[in-house]
Amino acid sequence: MNAIEVKALSKSYGDIHAVDGIDLSIAEGEIFALLGPNGAGKTTTVEILEGFRTRDSGDVSVLGFDPRLGGQEARQWRNRIGIVLQSTSDSGDLSVIETIAHFSGYYSNPRDVNEVINSVGLDDKSNSLIRKLSGGQRRRLDVALGIIGNPELLFLDEPTTGFDPEARRNFWALIKKLRGNGTTIVLTTHYLDEAEALADRVGVINNGRIMEIATPAELGGRSTSKALVTWRDGHEIKSQATDNPTALVGQLTSTFNGEIPELTVTRLSLEDIYLKMIGVHHE
Ligand code: ATP
Repeated sequence: MNAIEVKALSKSYGDIHAVDGIDLSIAEGEIFALLGPNGAGKTTTVEILEGFRTRDSGDVSVLGFDPRLGGQEARQWRNRIGIVLQSTSDSGDLSVIETIAHFSGYYSNPRDVNEVINSVGLDDKSNSLIRKLSGGQRRRLDVALGIIGNPELLFLDEPTTGFDPEARRNFWALIKKLRGNGTTIVLTTHYLDEAEALADRVGVINNGRIMEIATPAELGGRSTSKALVTWRDGHEIKSQATDNPTALVGQLTSTFNGEIPELTVTRLSLEDIYLKMIGVHHE
């Protein structure tokens, strides 16, 4: 069964077609990243899936439940979902551990509070007041609150904004661990390296429409794009774009009779492909 099933989802605000006929299936246990420029319709889509926004039309099933419905069933459904919103948590006069312990009380099967604090790297801030945390530390607290309920499905809206590089790497490790335990994860991010590191598949959305859904390696024909081979030849750096980098490197190996000076072989990055897809051209 798919964790998320969306058919022909649409939502307009006046004349703005924020979401314009989206189809989407996300498998159980998958990490799916939704990419797109500001205003593309990511938050609107995700908040409809989370049950926070109404839709105009289309079918939506999230863990087998229509988020538009209410009642007792909706409460049970919410218990199975973790959400990390874009905005940071309220500053407050509670400590990190008090806040997380408080939120754990809302769930029927929460994770261990100290384990969650450890997994987001806030051990040494456990007793600090929230209002005394740095921006990145508060973001980590948001993530902790998203996972305290031991969710089957976790929504992460730009989760690592404000993280330093080490915190991002730790966060990625945490997300991979959650996936290893079977958690389905829907991520929106503007960091293409984050999507590449984490996502099984990415969906690019622009003007409320899905442009393509593919693995990060295959998006936009990336895996079959030409490779760029560069090397040093005397004082000169040479480069050649080729469909067959292995053959070129073979030729260079015989030309140099061994080690090719400063050899690199690269393909278009996910960011290059993404920018091309959404129509941003730069030199
Ligand atoms: P970002 O990357 O900036 O978070 P996004 O992809 O999440 O962008 P949305 O927030 O879904 O984009 O917005 C999609 C479009 O709908 C935008 O044009 C936005 O201005 C519009 N929009 C979103 N929410 C509302 C609202 N409550 N009222 C009116 N227009 C809205």
